[in-house]
Amino acid sequence: MDKKIIYMDHAATTYTAKEVVEAMIPYFSDEFGNPSSVYSIGQSNKKVLDLARKQAASAINAQPDEIFFTNGGTESDNWALKGAAFANERKGKHIITTSIEHHAVLHSCEWLASRGFEITYLPVDKFGMVSPESVEKAIRQDTILISVMYANNEVGTIQPIAEIGKIARKHGICFHTDAVQAVGHVPIDVVSENIDLLSLSGHKLYGPKGIGALYIRKGTRIQSFMHGGAQERKRRAGTENVPGIVGLGAAIERAVTHLPEEMDRLTDLRNELTRELLKIPATHLNGHPTKRLPNNTNIIFEYIEGESVLLLLNMKGICASTGSACNSASLEPSHVLTAMGIPHEIAHGSIRLTIGERTTAEDVKIVTAALKETVEKLRAMSPLTPKELKNVQ
Ligand SMILES: *Cc1c(COP(=O)(O)O)cnc(C)c1O
Repeated sequence: MDKKIIYMDHAATTYTAKEVVEAMIPYFSDEFGNPSSVYSIGQSNKKVLDLARKQAASAINAQPDEIFFTNGGTESDNWALKGAAFANERKGKHIITTSIEHHAVLHSCEWLASRGFEITYLPVDKFGMVSPESVEKAIRQDTILISVMYANNEVGTIQPIAEIGKIARKHGICFHTDAVQAVGHVPIDVVSENIDLLSLSGHKLYGPKGIGALYIRKGTRIQSFMHGGAQERKRRAGTENVPGIVGLGAAIERAVTHLPEEMDRLTDLRNELTRELLKIPATHLNGHPTKRLPNNTNIIFEYIEGESVLLLLNMKGICASTGSACNSASLEPSHVLTAMGIPHEIAHGSIRLTIGERTTAEDVKIVTAALKETVEKLRAMSPLTPKELKNVQ
């Protein structure tokens, strides 16, 4: 590849960091033993699983035996929702979640609804924020689970998790958060935030794909999701993905070590990117102006289609997205933007840019200039563009 690629889609996935790959490599070949075996190459692998469990636990202030490895964020969400629902169904069948969750949560809820559970989808305000009061109001005698994502994958809004956790604890209701976009990106403390279940994933924090974890606070009622062998203390059967788990542990430790500086650096770059893009006329920021992930900006350009912007950016070697990677095959506007009250016609003009470790100030300049040019070009061709906007150069 001779053309430089500028990657601004870290919320969709990240590359695996070089040190992380290096930490994983021995476990594909020389250190291939099954952690359940008695001989030493198996037993030594059990030790590395324990190390990864420690690394993951300490990043969120959990205990190592509260970490259960899964094959990623989707599995963790499915396990949390379905496992907690069925473990508590004698107490009640009501679940509270939000209208802006990732599809791993929303579709699990839909499936649970088909099995007799009742789901309340809380609305969000124009910034994509859930109000803790609305959570408390939605609680009923038969509420058994509250699931609110830590930070939204499309617009980056960070939810008032500590306040919601406090409410859940006060009412004795299990509280799950999908923290896939947040772990390794912002500080998290499952103890002070009263989180009972938390989903995380490797490939959103410079770890490998196909590996994740579910944090289960000690004493939380949850059924097993995978049945088979006695792995993960009989709660998640299947021979452990040892290289993946080693990579996940290394990636999490690496992310939290750099966290404060990297948050500051990304916030500055992101603010610069947002500021420059908002200079383009008829442009708006989606999501909360300050309570958002340091690496996320999401902008609406009125009168044009986000998909067309992406194709033109791609020709310039710039990778971005219209929101969730899972939505790009459908013509429906994003459920997140719709829930925020953004009209369909303009929701289609939104672009998500998520920067990362390798993003530089120079990249921000190049992307800003490319977007200005692209938006002008598309607006010049669009019959929807008002005349006065076509003449700005
Ligand atoms: C990516 C993502 C998931 C799914 O994680 P996978 O590891 O890709 O299965 C779930 N929730 C959120 C918020 C995500 O961003």
